[in-house]
Amino acid sequence: MDITLSKQQIQDAAHTAYDFAAKVTGGANANYIPYLANIAPSLFGLSVMLPDGTAFNIGDTGYRFGIESVSKVPTAILAMRQHTPAGVLEKIGADATGLPFNSIFAILLENDHPSTPLVNAGAISACSMIDPKGDSDAKWKAITDNITDLCGSAPQLIDELYHSESATNFNNRAITWLLKNYDRIYDDPDMSLDLYTRQCSLGVTSSQLAAMAATIASGGVCPVNGKRVFDPAIAPKITTLIATVGFYQHTGDWLYTSGIPAKSGVGGGVLGVLPGVLGIAAFAPPLDDAGNSVKAQAAIKKFMQTLGLGIMNGDRVTIA
Ligand code: GLN
Repeated sequence: MDITLSKQQIQDAAHTAYDFAAKVTGGANANYIPYLANIAPSLFGLSVMLPDGTAFNIGDTGYRFGIESVSKVPTAILAMRQHTPAGVLEKIGADATGLPFNSIFAILLENDHPSTPLVNAGAISACSMIDPKGDSDAKWKAITDNITDLCGSAPQLIDELYHSESATNFNNRAITWLLKNYDRIYDDPDMSLDLYTRQCSLGVTSSQLAAMAATIASGGVCPVNGKRVFDPAIAPKITTLIATVGFYQHTGDWLYTSGIPAKSGVGGGVLGVLPGVLGIAAFAPPLDDAGNSVKAQAAIKKFMQTLGLGIMNGDRVTIA
Protein backbone atom coordinates (compact mmCIF):
# COMPACT_ATOMS: atom_id res chain seq x y z
CA MET A 1 0.00 0.00 0.00
CA ASP A 2 1.09 3.61 -0.56
CA ILE A 3 0.88 5.82 2.54
CA THR A 4 1.28 9.57 2.25
CA LEU A 5 1.83 11.49 5.46
CA SER A 6 1.95 15.24 5.97
CA LYS A 7 4.45 16.81 8.34
CA GLN A 8 1.48 18.03 10.36
CA GLN A 9 0.29 14.44 10.84
CA ILE A 10 3.75 13.43 12.01
CA GLN A 11 3.93 16.35 14.43
CA ASP A 12 0.44 15.59 15.76
CA ALA A 13 1.36 11.91 16.23
CA ALA A 14 4.46 12.94 18.18
CA HIS A 15 2.33 15.05 20.54
CA THR A 16 -0.24 12.25 20.94
CA ALA A 17 2.56 9.80 21.73
CA TYR A 18 4.23 12.17 24.18
CA ASP A 19 1.01 12.91 26.06
CA PHE A 20 0.17 9.20 26.22
CA ALA A 21 3.61 8.12 27.45
CA ALA A 22 3.90 10.97 29.97
CA LYS A 23 1.22 9.17 32.01
CA VAL A 24 2.96 5.78 31.83
CA THR A 25 4.63 4.88 35.11
CA GLY A 26 6.82 1.99 36.24
CA GLY A 27 10.45 1.03 35.90
CA ALA A 28 13.44 2.30 37.83
CA ASN A 29 16.66 4.16 37.06
CA ALA A 30 19.72 1.99 36.45
CA ASN A 31 21.33 1.61 39.88
CA TYR A 32 24.50 -0.35 39.08
CA ILE A 33 26.15 2.86 37.81
CA PRO A 34 25.91 5.35 40.72
CA TYR A 35 25.61 8.49 38.51
CA LEU A 36 22.57 7.11 36.68
CA ALA A 37 20.75 6.26 39.89
CA ASN A 38 20.61 9.96 40.75
CA ILE A 39 19.16 11.39 37.52
CA ALA A 40 15.67 12.91 37.93
CA PRO A 41 13.27 10.10 36.94
CA SER A 42 10.64 12.58 35.72
CA LEU A 43 12.73 13.80 32.76
CA PHE A 44 11.10 12.90 29.45
CA GLY A 45 11.79 14.00 25.88
CA LEU A 46 10.66 12.87 22.43
CA SER A 47 12.35 13.89 19.17
CA VAL A 48 11.61 13.06 15.54
CA MET A 49 13.71 14.00 12.53
CA LEU A 50 12.78 13.63 8.86
CA PRO A 51 15.29 13.10 6.04
CA ASP A 52 14.90 16.75 4.96
CA GLY A 53 16.04 17.91 8.41
CA THR A 54 12.61 18.86 9.75
CA ALA A 55 12.67 18.23 13.52
CA PHE A 56 9.93 17.86 16.11
CA ASN A 57 11.05 18.11 19.74
CA ILE A 58 8.75 17.74 22.74
CA GLY A 59 9.66 17.89 26.45
CA ASP A 60 13.20 17.59 27.81
CA THR A 61 14.87 17.21 24.42
CA GLY A 62 17.78 19.53 25.27
CA TYR A 63 18.83 17.59 28.39
CA ARG A 64 22.18 15.81 28.03
CA PHE A 65 21.97 12.26 29.34
CA GLY A 66 24.41 9.33 29.22
CA ILE A 67 24.26 7.74 25.76
CA GLU A 68 25.32 4.37 27.25
CA SER A 69 24.55 1.43 24.96
CA VAL A 70 23.15 3.59 22.18
CA SER A 71 26.86 4.40 21.59
CA LYS A 72 27.24 0.83 20.34
CA VAL A 73 25.40 1.89 17.17
CA PRO A 74 27.76 4.66 15.98
CA THR A 75 30.88 2.65 16.85
CA ALA A 76 29.54 -0.37 14.95
CA ILE A 77 29.02 2.00 11.99
CA LEU A 78 32.60 3.26 12.37
CA ALA A 79 33.94 -0.31 12.49
CA MET A 80 32.01 -1.02 9.25
CA ARG A 81 33.31 2.19 7.66
CA GLN A 82 36.89 1.19 8.48
CA HIS A 83 36.68 -2.59 8.01
CA THR A 84 33.54 -3.16 5.86
CA PRO A 85 30.35 -4.89 7.04
CA ALA A 86 31.91 -8.26 6.08
CA GLY A 87 34.91 -7.51 8.30
CA VAL A 88 32.65 -6.79 11.26
CA LEU A 89 30.72 -10.01 10.62
CA GLU A 90 33.93 -12.00 10.58
CA LYS A 91 35.60 -10.37 13.60
CA ILE A 92 32.54 -9.89 15.84
CA GLY A 93 29.40 -11.44 14.34
CA ALA A 94 25.80 -10.37 13.74
CA ASP A 95 23.79 -12.77 15.88
CA ALA A 96 21.27 -11.89 18.56
CA THR A 97 22.21 -13.34 21.94
CA GLY A 98 18.70 -13.39 23.45
CA LEU A 99 20.48 -12.65 26.73
CA PRO A 100 21.15 -9.56 28.87
CA PHE A 101 23.52 -6.90 27.47
CA ASN A 102 26.34 -7.79 29.86
CA SER A 103 26.05 -11.57 29.61
CA ILE A 104 29.19 -13.61 30.10
CA PHE A 105 27.19 -16.76 29.49
CA ALA A 106 26.55 -15.54 25.91
CA ILE A 107 30.31 -15.44 25.25
CA LEU A 108 30.75 -18.95 26.62
CA LEU A 109 27.88 -20.26 24.47
CA GLU A 110 29.53 -18.88 21.31
CA ASN A 111 33.12 -19.12 22.34
CA ASP A 112 34.43 -18.08 18.95
CA HIS A 113 32.28 -14.93 18.58
CA PRO A 114 31.20 -11.96 20.73
CA SER A 115 27.88 -12.33 18.76
CA THR A 116 27.10 -8.72 17.74
CA PRO A 117 28.59 -5.23 18.18
CA LEU A 118 25.37 -4.20 19.97
CA VAL A 119 25.97 -6.13 23.22
CA ASN A 120 28.77 -5.25 25.66
CA ALA A 121 31.12 -8.00 24.46
CA GLY A 122 30.84 -7.08 20.79
CA ALA A 123 30.96 -3.35 21.54
CA ILE A 124 34.24 -3.70 23.46
CA SER A 125 35.54 -5.80 20.58
CA ALA A 126 34.38 -3.08 18.12
CA CYS A 127 36.31 -0.44 20.12
CA SER A 128 39.39 -2.64 19.81
CA MET A 129 38.91 -2.79 16.01
CA ILE A 130 38.92 0.99 15.56
CA ASP A 131 41.94 2.43 13.73
CA PRO A 132 44.55 3.68 14.30
CA LYS A 133 45.49 0.77 16.55
CA GLY A 134 47.58 1.37 19.65
CA ASP A 135 46.78 5.10 19.91
CA SER A 136 44.08 5.77 22.47
CA ASP A 137 43.74 9.51 21.74
CA ALA A 138 43.48 9.01 17.98
CA LYS A 139 40.96 6.19 18.42
CA TRP A 140 38.89 8.35 20.76
CA LYS A 141 38.96 11.16 18.20
CA ALA A 142 37.77 8.76 15.48
CA ILE A 143 34.93 7.52 17.73
CA THR A 144 33.73 11.00 18.74
CA ASP A 145 34.19 12.55 15.26
CA ASN A 146 31.99 9.77 13.88
CA ILE A 147 29.26 10.50 16.47
CA THR A 148 29.51 14.22 15.71
CA ASP A 149 29.06 13.52 12.00
CA LEU A 150 26.10 11.20 12.59
CA CYS A 151 24.34 13.73 14.86
CA GLY A 152 25.39 16.86 12.98
CA SER A 153 26.60 18.21 16.36
CA ALA A 154 29.09 17.11 19.01
CA PRO A 155 28.41 14.94 22.08
CA GLN A 156 30.05 15.97 25.39
CA LEU A 157 31.76 13.67 27.84
CA ILE A 158 30.05 13.59 31.25
CA ASP A 159 33.14 13.30 33.44
CA GLU A 160 31.24 12.28 36.54
CA LEU A 161 29.54 9.44 34.65
CA TYR A 162 32.86 8.29 33.17
CA HIS A 163 34.44 8.10 36.63
CA SER A 164 31.36 6.48 38.13
CA GLU A 165 31.30 3.85 35.41
CA SER A 166 35.07 3.23 35.36
CA ALA A 167 35.05 2.59 39.10
CA THR A 168 32.29 -0.01 38.91
CA ASN A 169 32.73 -1.83 35.56
CA PHE A 170 34.00 -5.12 36.99
CA ASN A 171 31.70 -7.26 34.84
CA ASN A 172 32.92 -5.52 31.69
CA ARG A 173 36.53 -6.12 32.76
CA ALA A 174 35.74 -9.83 32.99
CA ILE A 175 34.11 -9.73 29.53
CA THR A 176 37.16 -7.99 28.04
CA TRP A 177 39.66 -10.51 29.33
CA LEU A 178 37.47 -13.48 28.43
CA LEU A 179 37.29 -12.12 24.87
CA LYS A 180 41.04 -11.65 24.86
CA ASN A 181 41.28 -15.33 25.72
CA TYR A 182 39.30 -16.10 22.54
CA ASP A 183 41.40 -13.72 20.37
CA ARG A 184 38.48 -11.36 19.89
CA ILE A 185 40.17 -8.22 21.18
CA TYR A 186 42.13 -6.59 18.36
CA ASP A 187 44.11 -4.00 20.35
CA ASP A 188 45.22 -3.48 23.93
CA PRO A 189 42.42 -4.91 26.14
CA ASP A 190 42.51 -2.24 28.87
CA MET A 191 42.55 0.54 26.27
CA SER A 192 39.64 -1.05 24.40
CA LEU A 193 37.57 -1.31 27.59
CA ASP A 194 38.42 2.27 28.54
CA LEU A 195 37.29 3.55 25.12
CA TYR A 196 34.04 1.60 25.47
CA THR A 197 33.44 2.99 28.98
CA ARG A 198 34.20 6.52 27.82
CA GLN A 199 31.91 6.33 24.80
CA CYS A 200 29.08 5.11 27.07
CA SER A 201 29.68 8.21 29.23
CA LEU A 202 29.10 10.70 26.43
CA GLY A 203 26.23 13.10 27.03
CA VAL A 204 23.73 13.51 24.20
CA THR A 205 20.24 14.93 23.83
CA SER A 206 17.24 13.16 22.36
CA SER A 207 17.29 15.62 19.47
CA GLN A 208 20.88 14.59 18.70
CA LEU A 209 19.92 10.90 18.80
CA ALA A 210 16.96 11.55 16.49
CA ALA A 211 19.42 13.16 14.05
CA MET A 212 21.67 10.09 14.28
CA ALA A 213 18.65 7.87 13.64
CA ALA A 214 17.62 10.03 10.68
CA THR A 215 21.14 9.76 9.23
CA ILE A 216 20.81 5.98 9.30
CA ALA A 217 17.24 6.17 7.90
CA SER A 218 18.59 8.37 5.09
CA GLY A 219 21.24 5.85 4.03
CA GLY A 220 24.17 7.73 5.58
CA VAL A 221 23.46 11.40 4.82
CA CYS A 222 23.06 13.58 7.92
CA PRO A 223 19.86 15.64 7.51
CA VAL A 224 21.22 18.41 9.75
CA ASN A 225 23.94 19.49 7.31
CA GLY A 226 23.59 17.28 4.22
CA LYS A 227 27.00 15.65 4.77
CA ARG A 228 27.46 12.03 3.68
CA VAL A 229 28.80 10.15 6.71
CA PHE A 230 28.83 6.55 5.51
CA ASP A 231 28.35 4.41 2.41
CA PRO A 232 24.66 3.61 1.77
CA ALA A 233 25.48 -0.14 1.88
CA ILE A 234 26.11 0.19 5.64
CA ALA A 235 22.58 1.44 6.42
CA PRO A 236 20.75 -1.90 6.02
CA LYS A 237 23.53 -3.67 7.94
CA ILE A 238 23.36 -1.44 11.01
CA THR A 239 19.55 -1.44 10.91
CA THR A 240 19.63 -5.24 10.82
CA LEU A 241 21.79 -5.32 13.94
CA ILE A 242 19.45 -2.86 15.67
CA ALA A 243 16.37 -4.88 14.65
CA THR A 244 17.79 -8.18 15.87
CA VAL A 245 19.30 -7.23 19.23
CA GLY A 246 18.53 -3.57 20.03
CA PHE A 247 16.44 -4.40 23.11
CA TYR A 248 18.49 -7.45 24.20
CA GLN A 249 16.28 -10.27 25.52
CA HIS A 250 13.15 -8.20 24.75
CA THR A 251 14.02 -7.46 21.13
CA GLY A 252 11.49 -9.82 19.57
CA ASP A 253 8.63 -8.55 21.71
CA TRP A 254 9.65 -4.99 20.94
CA LEU A 255 9.78 -5.37 17.14
CA TYR A 256 6.58 -7.44 17.16
CA THR A 257 4.64 -4.78 19.05
CA SER A 258 6.24 -1.53 17.83
CA GLY A 259 7.21 -2.23 14.21
CA ILE A 260 10.42 -0.19 14.43
CA PRO A 261 14.04 -1.32 14.94
CA ALA A 262 15.32 0.52 18.02
CA LYS A 263 18.36 0.59 20.30
CA SER A 264 18.26 1.36 24.01
CA GLY A 265 20.76 2.54 26.61
CA VAL A 266 20.62 2.34 30.42
CA GLY A 267 20.84 6.15 30.52
CA GLY A 268 17.17 6.05 29.40
CA GLY A 269 17.68 6.85 25.72
CA VAL A 270 16.15 4.94 22.81
CA LEU A 271 16.93 5.52 19.12
CA GLY A 272 14.55 4.18 16.43
CA VAL A 273 15.12 3.90 12.67
CA LEU A 274 12.40 3.63 10.05
CA PRO A 275 14.46 3.23 6.86
CA GLY A 276 13.80 5.89 4.24
CA VAL A 277 11.14 7.54 6.39
CA LEU A 278 12.37 9.02 9.68
CA GLY A 279 14.49 8.81 12.80
CA ILE A 280 13.01 8.99 16.28
CA ALA A 281 14.49 9.15 19.78
CA ALA A 282 13.08 9.31 23.27
CA PHE A 283 14.62 9.72 26.70
CA ALA A 284 13.28 8.94 30.18
CA PRO A 285 15.44 7.35 32.92
CA PRO A 286 13.21 4.61 34.47
CA LEU A 287 13.99 1.23 32.85
CA ASP A 288 12.34 -2.16 32.56
CA ASP A 289 14.06 -5.38 33.67
CA ALA A 290 16.13 -5.59 30.46
CA GLY A 291 17.43 -2.01 30.80
CA ASN A 292 15.09 -0.36 28.27
CA SER A 293 13.34 2.96 29.08
CA VAL A 294 9.68 2.36 29.94
CA LYS A 295 8.37 5.78 28.82
CA ALA A 296 10.55 5.90 25.70
CA GLN A 297 9.15 2.53 24.61
CA ALA A 298 5.58 3.68 25.26
CA ALA A 299 6.09 6.91 23.31
CA ILE A 300 7.71 5.35 20.24
CA LYS A 301 5.16 2.53 20.11
CA LYS A 302 2.26 4.99 20.34
CA PHE A 303 3.81 7.15 17.62
CA MET A 304 4.08 4.17 15.26
CA GLN A 305 0.52 3.00 16.01
CA THR A 306 -0.95 6.49 15.58
CA LEU A 307 0.54 6.77 12.09
CA GLY A 308 -0.13 3.12 11.17
CA LEU A 309 3.55 2.54 10.39
CA GLY A 310 5.60 -0.66 10.68
CA ILE A 311 8.83 -1.80 9.04
CA MET A 312 7.29 -5.18 8.19
CA ASN A 313 4.05 -3.75 6.77
CA GLY A 314 5.32 -3.57 3.21
CA ASP A 315 3.97 -0.05 2.72
CA ARG A 316 5.61 2.62 0.64
CA VAL A 317 5.64 5.72 2.82
CA THR A 318 5.93 9.23 1.37
CA ILE A 319 6.09 12.43 3.37
CA ALA A 320 4.43 15.22 1.41
N1 GLN B 1 27.87 1.25 30.02
C1 GLN B 1 26.84 0.30 30.27
C2 GLN B 1 27.43 -1.05 30.57
O1 GLN B 1 28.38 -1.41 29.95
C3 GLN B 1 25.92 0.24 29.09
C4 GLN B 1 24.81 -0.79 29.23
C5 GLN B 1 23.54 -0.41 28.51
O2 GLN B 1 23.26 0.76 28.23
N2 GLN B 1 22.69 -1.40 28.29
O3 GLN B 1 27.00 -1.76 31.44
